[in-house]
Amino acid sequence: MRLEADGKEWGHVMDWGERPEQELGVLTDLFDEPEEQEWQDRALCAQTDPEAFFPEKGGSTREAKRICQGCEVKDDCLEYALAHDERFGIWGGLSERERRKLKKRAV
Ligand code: SF4
Repeated sequence: MRLEADGKEWGHVMDWGERPEQELGVLTDLFDEPEEQEWQDRALCAQTDPEAFFPEKGGSTREAKRICQGCEVKDDCLEYALAHDERFGIWGGLSERERRKLKKRAV
């Protein structure tokens, strides 16, 4: 689903399970997953602009990372992203590249 404001597209909301390249806006869908409800209920990003967590290529991740630093479920979020191989967006305060590096180091 296209999300528009003032005639300008600012994001997509996809059904959970769709291909990663279509997962912009997945964070909003994620909050509908019952088994993940516990930590997601306390996710700080749910109270903020989800667009900051899925910036355009080359866009700033600073604001999302700043919010993550104050999020009480940061560890759960990062663990989830690593376990589910989330390829897009900021999760647990880390970008996709940072998560990839972390995974490589853990192997
Ligand atoms: S760590 Fe960041 S992305 Fe994860 S739930 Fe918290 S605010 Fe959202």
